[in-house]
Amino acid sequence: MKTFAITNQKGGCGKTTTAVNLAAALASRGYRTLLVDLDPQGHATLAFGLQPDTLEQTIYEALVNPQVLFERILQPTCLPTLLLAPSNVLLSGAESQLLRMTDREYVLRRLLQETAARFDYCVIDCSPSLNLLTLNAMVAADELIIPVQTQYYALEGLRQVMETVDVVRERFAPNLRIRGILLTLVERRTLLSRQVEEQMRDYFGPLVFRTVIHRNVRLAEAPSAGQSVITYAPQSFGALEYQSLTDELTYETQNRTAQESCLYI
Ligand code: ADP
Ligand code: MG
Repeated sequence: MKTFAITNQKGGCGKTTTAVNLAAALASRGYRTLLVDLDPQGHATLAFGLQPDTLEQTIYEALVNPQVLFERILQPTCLPTLLLAPSNVLLSGAESQLLRMTDREYVLRRLLQETAARFDYCVIDCSPSLNLLTLNAMVAADELIIPVQTQYYALEGLRQVMETVDVVRERFAPNLRIRGILLTLVERRTLLSRQVEEQMRDYFGPLVFRTVIHRNVRLAEAPSAGQSVITYAPQSFGALEYQSLTDELTYETQNRTAQESCLYI
């Protein structure tokens, strides 16, 4: 199982949209895929039409109660090969309980290892803060995908993320890789969007995915239908762009040499 964590401490930059639609695009190709909602806001859970507050068992119970089997919390979605580990607001209480555990940074990693044989890919949707949950996500992941909204302060925010990743690598997860920076909410016709994209590509080079995700209304609408855009509007630009990102990820997973894919910066 290959695990991607979708992370950036900034809110509203397209983390959940990326997690949901990447997971759905992988599942639409027949890959057995697990989407982990690691945000107490439960947006990825809502995106698949589940009501977070009505769920009896979520990722919270699996993290804090060793008696709860991870398998038992998994929920089906409208895609047969996609399962969801849902979350709700209770997850915001997990931090204080994890703090009491000795291996507090490795709890999610251990849970995922329990079910690794059942899945080809796992995608983790992180909350917009740098807390112990996000640290668990980074430690559990093989690779990070960092969505960045093309706006003026993009580069500044990104430096902060990179510093965090360095610390996590040093202290907890030496093999953690940044798979790529994904430009999101790109405006088709604004100069600023183009300038930020150029600046990012100059600065980070091949670490920026070739695929960019433009602003597309279908991406914003799909959650209200309880679906990913991949099934809600498969021919929309939003769906096609997330499929193209998935091409980059799966193609490169199969074909890059280990050395090439180790893009440490
Ligand atoms: P995050 O998880 O980083 O907070 P979201 O994925 O929830 O960000 O996106 C924030 C808001 O922007 C949501 O309402 C989402 O539907 C919308 N959104 C995200 N990406 C796009 C896009 N490419 N086009 C249009 N709306 C988008
Ligand atoms: Mg989110």
